[in-house]
Amino acid sequence: MALTIGLTGGIASGKSTVSRMLKEYGIPVVDADVIAREVVNVGEEAYRQIVEVFGNDILQENGEIDRAKLGSIVFNNEEKRKQLNAIVHPAVRKTMMAQRESYIQSGAKTVVLDIPLLFESNLTHLVDKVIVVYVDEAIQLERLMKRNGLSKTDATARIRSQMPLIEKKVYADAVIDNNGAVDETREQLLYILKQWNVL
Ligand code: ADP
Repeated sequence: MALTIGLTGGIASGKSTVSRMLKEYGIPVVDADVIAREVVNVGEEAYRQIVEVFGNDILQENGEIDRAKLGSIVFNNEEKRKQLNAIVHPAVRKTMMAQRESYIQSGAKTVVLDIPLLFESNLTHLVDKVIVVYVDEAIQLERLMKRNGLSKTDATARIRSQMPLIEKKVYADAVIDNNGAVDETREQLLYILKQWNVL
């Protein structure tokens, strides 16, 4: 039986950093964010459904979905957000499962699903174990402002829109504390992978 690990955390907590390390060790990582962009590409089933619900107004001149426009429509409208999620979420789940299956068919004993909103979207049933990449809020804020060039107000708003990391920690099978240097993060990851007989 292959092991499926969910990798999660908060915005700028260090998920991509850990994901890169996993790939270095030859462990395949399925990235929910990448898939969420792909499933709404022109010609995909989710694209067709979104246009059906939201109309041609949300399209750019080249026919692609105007993500910013769609984002602003659903941002302040709970009903529309639910409609969009009802289209996009199943498509993302389906593609994630297909990619996972394909890695397993190719011989992978472990597959990681990198899902930023694993808890918020109630997707823990898709994985056997969960790793949460944790940082204190002050460091999260600092790294987010630096990486995305955001003001303190904007960065704080983005952090506050997610489930607090301290709460996610409680639901984790393993926590990586990413407050320190990247090398320390790598050591913790290696420890977990050895404990779970992945490496
Ligand atoms: P996420 O994928 O969770 O949004 P990233 O892995 O992109 O987070 O990390 C957020 C930012 O913080 C990036 O700019 C990254 O280079 C930096 N970063 C991540 N981990 C560390 C660390 N241990 N020390 C210093 N900077 C870090």
